[in-house]
Amino acid sequence: MEKKVRIGFYALTSCYGCQLQLAMMDELLQLLPHAEIVCWFMVERDSYEDEPVDIAFIEGSVSTEEEIELVKKIRENAKIVVAVGSCAVHGGVQSWEKDKSLEELWKTVYGDGKVKFEPKMAEPVENYIKVDYRIYGCPPEKKDFLYAIGTFLVGSWPEDIDYPVCVEC
Ligand code: SF4
Repeated sequence: MEKKVRIGFYALTSCYGCQLQLAMMDELLQLLPHAEIVCWFMVERDSYEDEPVDIAFIEGSVSTEEEIELVKKIRENAKIVVAVGSCAVHGGVQSWEKDKSLEELWKTVYGDGKVKFEPKMAEPVENYIKVDYRIYGCPPEKKDFLYAIGTFLVGSWPEDIDYPVCVEC
């Protein structure tokens, strides 16, 4: 019997748009017979974050101490780590305001209310763990997802995709 590739999808601080893009792809259904989805909280509540996987797809920027621990754990448990989308690859929009303090940003969004949360500046996943492959975009295009996942599933390695900053580039 074919050994299925074990896959995990993990989310850090993000809008969940990359996962949504993936979840809406009909083509994904054709790949699923070759894969076992071990962790994907967005579509499966009984997900297992601590389970070893062959490929870990990570969406979102690292923005809390808990997320630092989570990405380290994901790295320990995964043979291949893929950063998915601008947040995971570059830190995303939430990492742009580097000239303002966290306190200032916090008050802009939450005022002086009582929201309890200890954020840190949003950072790319690669600032904390080794990333093996990147899928660019916000969210990535379906064809880039398909190319990467499909290539991994047949036991090969996808080429890096040049990602222009604008379509005319
Ligand atoms: Fe959302 Fe874009 Fe970040 Fe994906 S890269 S989680 S679509 S903001």
